[in-house]
Amino acid sequence: MNSDQTKIPRATAKRLPLYYRFLQNLSASGKHRVSSAELSEAVKVDSATIRRDFSYFGALGKKGYGYNVDYLLTFFRKTLDQDEVTKVALIGVGNLGTAFLHYNFTKNNNTKIVMAFDTDPKKVGTKIGGVPVYHIESFEEAAASGVTVAILTVPLPAAQGIADQLVHSGIKGILNFTPARLTVPEHIRVHHIDLAVELQALVYFLKHYPL
Ligand code: ATP
Repeated sequence: MNSDQTKIPRATAKRLPLYYRFLQNLSASGKHRVSSAELSEAVKVDSATIRRDFSYFGALGKKGYGYNVDYLLTFFRKTLDQDEVTKVALIGVGNLGTAFLHYNFTKNNNTKIVMAFDTDPKKVGTKIGGVPVYHIESFEEAAASGVTVAILTVPLPAAQGIADQLVHSGIKGILNFTPARLTVPEHIRVHHIDLAVELQALVYFLKHYPL
């Protein structure tokens, strides 16, 4: 993100891509304005939060008019650095990793998985979803080619060792899909997504806190 946007609170910054995608769709369908109520319904964020978020962007909705879609899109493009593509590496081309390679975040213009790594000789040397799979031992060269973010979809016992290797190679951020709680130096950002835990939590809430 641009350095002049650092005043945006983290929670707001996390919602930016959500707003951005919805506004792109609106703009593509020829709409030039949107109310916070419409936005709220679409992105499932309450409208008070949307109004507060948008006030950080200098976008003050007008009563009876709403927000100017083009203004917001220009702002988001600038803030999310859409011109600059962040190169991502995926480690662990199993079932989940393979799904990510096929999906490859094509709806985000600014992130792309450009290479994948595994230890399995049957997978190394192939291409999946157009992404080349290399041996994990050659990761250092990959990082040297400008990869800054890694997605981790290896089995739990391999996770910490690989994380150490990633950090050593200069990776700045890890999206960790393994259940391992990774230990990394302070300057490395790890976001942890445990799909099994999320699913269990949903089932628990459905049972114990019916809507
Ligand atoms: P599959 O059925 O293809 O094995 P899976 O998701 O059940 O899929 P896992 O055992 O979770 O398989 O492993 C995920 C992937 O991580 C596999 O492709 C495996 O070869 C790879 N892997 C295991 N250890 C490492 C490692 N140290 N470095 C890189 N990749 C690894």
